[in-house]
Amino acid sequence: MRLIQMVDLKTQYEKIKDDINASIFEVINNSNFINGPQVKEFAQQLAVFNKVKKVIPCANGTDALQIAMMALGYKPGDEIILPVFTYVATAEVIALLGLRPVFVDVDPLTFNIDPNKIKEKISARTKAIVPVHLFGQCADMEAIMQLATDHCLDVIEDAAQAIGAEYYFSNNKQFAGTIGTFGTTSFFPSKNLGCYGDGGALFTNKDELAKTAEVIANHGQVVKYHHDVIGINSRLDTLQAGILLKKLPLLNNYIDNRRIAAAYYDEALKSIPQIVIPYRSSVSTHVFHQYTIKVLAEKRDALKNYLAEKEIPTMVYYPLPLHWQNAYKAYNVSNESFPVSESISGQVLSLPIHTELDQEQLEYITANITAFFN
Ligand SMILES: *Cc1c(COP(=O)(O)O)cnc(C)c1O
Repeated sequence: MRLIQMVDLKTQYEKIKDDINASIFEVINNSNFINGPQVKEFAQQLAVFNKVKKVIPCANGTDALQIAMMALGYKPGDEIILPVFTYVATAEVIALLGLRPVFVDVDPLTFNIDPNKIKEKISARTKAIVPVHLFGQCADMEAIMQLATDHCLDVIEDAAQAIGAEYYFSNNKQFAGTIGTFGTTSFFPSKNLGCYGDGGALFTNKDELAKTAEVIANHGQVVKYHHDVIGINSRLDTLQAGILLKKLPLLNNYIDNRRIAAAYYDEALKSIPQIVIPYRSSVSTHVFHQYTIKVLAEKRDALKNYLAEKEIPTMVYYPLPLHWQNAYKAYNVSNESFPVSESISGQVLSLPIHTELDQEQLEYITANITAFFN
């Protein structure tokens, strides 16, 4: 049996090696390393894939969030609502821009921001809601968009884990990241559409905002050496765009592979009473960036250790909600508790899931989980 990994980028590469290598050497031969033609071409193809008007490539998914907030012109002290159970990047850029992260608890089934708990956090200084489509399934966008409309707020979707997921409104469906004012994503190697280094992008249907974001990502210059606004240096390398151009047409296959693995896990684990398999929202497809179970009866860490002994890696995404992170404690001004996030951070366990998991590996993993509980 091949070694089990959380992600297996090497085996994935082996299958597309010739294509990828050709693309890399084409970029090197042309030596157009910054903003080469592949960058624009990739942005256009991703816009078609995602059915969104504009894709603005940038250096990583964290920058994408920052660029969105800069483009929307938020001022220090403005408040931004986000889930307290998420990857730190979401809160980081808010704090770095001098804005105030305002935490909201998540739904115990989907792990996504609970729209019922957003309203009480909206104040006169609130500017935006940042839903994170955690683990590959969309947050409840219909409710979130309604709240945003009612209170004149922007919505910035953090779709770093959910590229290709579809959200079903009552009368149409849209891809993750294309619903709000801006959507952002990451091409970090382990993400569902990963490059071979760092990369990211913003999505928007608003031409004007797209232009502003593009200018900000490139030092605030419209004409070279003429800087109209304060920007940052955040570009997608031509090499990475060349790689992504080869991988984008495979994204749907990659998502299918993840779903096949997830379905296998579901069947094998659903009857274990101490395990809760991932909930499937009725309003969103799931692209399984992570396959995250809840382990009940305080057995999570013991299971994790047991599997590690069998050479089965697992990860805890995330061991601490943001209000328990040293760097962000101070932002929980009223010392509030977030019971759902506090509870699930002690239960969640993400199993290996990627495009290259085979039957033998899946059998081995699930047999060992079953054995642990017997
Ligand atoms: C990965 C990730 C990011 C940041 O992406 P980078 O490209 O690593 O900067 C932001 N938000 C979430 C939810 C992520 O998973």
